Formats: sequence, C-alpha cells, structure tokens
Amino acid sequence: MERFWNEVEAAPREGIEEVQWSRFQEALRWAFERVPFYRDKLLQEGVRPERISSLEDLPELPFTTKSDLRYQYPLGLCAIDQGEVLLFQATSGSTGRPVIVPYSREDLEVWAECMARALWAAGVRPEDICQNAYSYGLFTGGLGYHYGAQRIGCAVIPASSGFTERQVVLLRDLGATVLFCTPSYALTIAEYAEKFGVDLRKLPLRIGHFGAEPWSVEMRDEIEERMGIEAYEMYGMTEMMGPGVAFSCRYRQLHINEDYFYPEVIDPVTEKVLPEGEEGELVLTSLGRRGMPLLRYRTGDLTALERGQCRCGRTLVRMKRILGRTDDMLIVGGVNVFPSQVEGVLLGFTELEPHYRIRIFKKGYMDAMAVEVEVKGEIYAAEARRTELERQVAEKLRQVVGVEVPVSLVAPGSLPRSEGKAKRVVDERRG
Ligand code: ADP
Ligand code: ZN
Repeated sequence: MERFWNEVEAAPREGIEEVQWSRFQEALRWAFERVPFYRDKLLQEGVRPERISSLEDLPELPFTTKSDLRYQYPLGLCAIDQGEVLLFQATSGSTGRPVIVPYSREDLEVWAECMARALWAAGVRPEDICQNAYSYGLFTGGLGYHYGAQRIGCAVIPASSGFTERQVVLLRDLGATVLFCTPSYALTIAEYAEKFGVDLRKLPLRIGHFGAEPWSVEMRDEIEERMGIEAYEMYGMTEMMGPGVAFSCRYRQLHINEDYFYPEVIDPVTEKVLPEGEEGELVLTSLGRRGMPLLRYRTGDLTALERGQCRCGRTLVRMKRILGRTDDMLIVGGVNVFPSQVEGVLLGFTELEPHYRIRIFKKGYMDAMAVEVEVKGEIYAAEARRTELERQVAEKLRQVVGVEVPVSLVAPGSLPRSEGKAKRVVDERRG
C-alpha cells in the first residue's frame, strides 16, 4: 500500500523548489497579464516580472491584503473568462463584503488533489464512508471535503451542517467511518449523541477530520476521547482555495501543500520575512492557480515554519498549529492573550465542560476580559465547591495567560452550541 497520495509529498527539497519556481513564474505572468489590479500594483511598485530571478526575490513583490480582495468585489481579481469558470465559492462576509472566488477546471483538479492528499494522510481509504457535516453551499468546507473524498473513491454522505439529531442517526444507521466538520460542531454532535444514548465509541466511526477554526490540543484530546476516534486537522481559507492548504499527518504535524501554496512568515508589524522557526504571520502565494491567482496574500494567521523531513516521511514544509490571528489577539491590561490559550487552560480541568465564552468589555479606559464556562451538574449545584473551583480556574489563567481574569461557572447546557465556526469571543466594547 502506498504511503502517500502523491510522491511530491516526500520529494527532495530541490525537487519541490524546482516545481515551485516553475509554477511561480507562470503564476506571476498569469496575474500580471490577466488581472489589471496586479498589473497596476506591480508597475506602481516598479516590479517587472522578468526581474524576479528566483524565489529569493519574492519579498520584492507587494503584499495582497484582505481589504484588496474586498475592494475588488465581486470579480476584480478573476483571471479567466466567464466561460471558463466552473464554480463560485465565497467567504461569509460576516465582517464586511464577502470575497467571491472563481474556480477553473484546473483549480478544481488541484483542490481535489490537495484534499485527497490530506485525507489519505489521515488514513482515509476508498472503502471508507465519509459523513460530511461541513455546511454545503458557498462555504468551501462542504464541497472541498466532498471533492477530496470522492477523489479517493470513498462514499460520501453530504449531511451538511445542522440537524444534529439527524447527524447522530446517520452515523448510527449508515455507519460512517469518517466524519468531517468543525471541531466545535464535533463537540455538539458528541454531546447530542451522549444525551440520546448513542455511544459513538461503539460505532464504526474511526477518523475525524476537523478544521476551519482554531482549537487547542486539549480540545482535540477531548473530541478523540468522546468519539473514540483519531482526530486530524485541516487548514485553509476561502481566499486561497478553501480547506486543503495544509493538513496533519499521523505524527500530528501540519504539512503545507507547498507545491501549490508558497509560504512565507513575516513580522506583521515590520513586514519583513522572518527566518525559519520564528513566529509571525503566514503569507501565501498561489502556484498554478487560474481563476484567482494571489501573490503574497497576508492570511492574518500566526504560525512558524519548519523544514526538514517529518517522521512520516513527508518533506512538505511544516507549520505550527495556528496560535491565533493577528486580529483575534486580545490585549488585556497590556498583555497579549489568544483565545486558544484560555481554551487550553479551561480544558485542563476535568470538572469543566468544553463550552465557554470570553467576554471583552471596557473597564474605564482599559479593555477587560471575563470568562464564562460550563461546569458539571453536580458541582454547579454545590455552591461552596463552585466558588472554590472558580478561584482555582482564575488562578490557573493568571499563571498561564498572565492577567487577572474573573471566571464564572455556569450551568451545563447554558451556553450556545456551534454548528459551524464557534463564536466564543463576545466583544461588548462597542454598542
Ligand atoms: P474555510 O472555508 O477554510 O474555513 P474561511 O475563509 O472561512 O475558510 O476561514 C479561514 C480562516 O479560518 C483561516 O484564515 C484561519 O484563521 C481559520 N482556520 C482554518 N483552519 C484552521 C485551523 N486548522 N486552525 C486554526 N484556524 C483555522
Ligand atoms: Zn508528517
């Protein structure tokens, strides 16, 4: 049985770099010739494609930002003719205008390929049945996973997200061996199954493939335990294609499909490229993309890169699990706090449920933060124990995160449940 979906995953570095360089040259020409936005931007900066003589010259190119993409709404960055577009997908647009992404036939091929590599690395095989509980529609999770699983030859149950009771019934009755959804929705499904007396650990389900939102290692362990599965991870974003940019191997390392997405890590403030191993903002350049080529796209996601062969045998560069986003970092009392750090602390307490909410509000002129987290029923009912546990959790948060955070333990089942991307930070600073 072959170990990799595609040999390129374990190719020698020079081999990967050769592919990257040749695809990059084409990508740059493609963007320059077909997208007026890029032609103008490059000419303005005095960059001529023929002057870029190796990938080392990449920092000469300007960045592309999320606001560039919004400004070009709906199709200002489209590099192909209308007749060549096979699919549109879009971001949710919850924080502004959505970004619309057009895919050519080749783009859909690449998407299926990247997704198949990821699922194969998790041990998904043609005989598997995959229940896809990512939302189908404009959101890339649904179709991205669908294409990948079908490329391998699996049966797909396009359950989409929501109707949690039906998810559990389908898992039980059709016996899916693989589940795709966001980590927070996996928890919702697990909780529902427990309530309905369906023991997921006794079902054929053996692999979970989760992504699209940040989650702590503690959350991963919790999901594995409650579902009796091995949990794998996907990373990606709609602007770049969707899920499939990076995926975890069995050694829990996130590998970037770097023959299609060229990664750099920059200091988000100085915008300088950082050396390998240093943490900063991930910047991606699409290689070989037709519909919407992107040069040096600032993802806003914080990570670090690591080259060198992984224990799994892959040579594809590794990225650290996402620590947070440049725009979801909270500054409380002058200290930088990421929601995922808070999650890690909370899930370390067995008395707590993995459902929490972080409130951000103004206290005088300063930003302050408070945490609400569900606690097991028997502790909620015992006031003295509850108060003592609140004190312990707050103390642990102070040690790990470095700020005083008031903690309230709330009744089990009282916080909202997620069906897609969880919204755990409630910002009360405006309005
Ligand atoms: P997708 O359809 O892949 O979820 P979106 O554009 O809706 O794409 O969201 C992309 C963002 O979601 C990323 O920039 C990142 O902040 C977050 N994200 C995706 N996957 C992960 C992951 N595995 N870990 C942490 N954050 C993630
Ligand atoms: Zn690996």
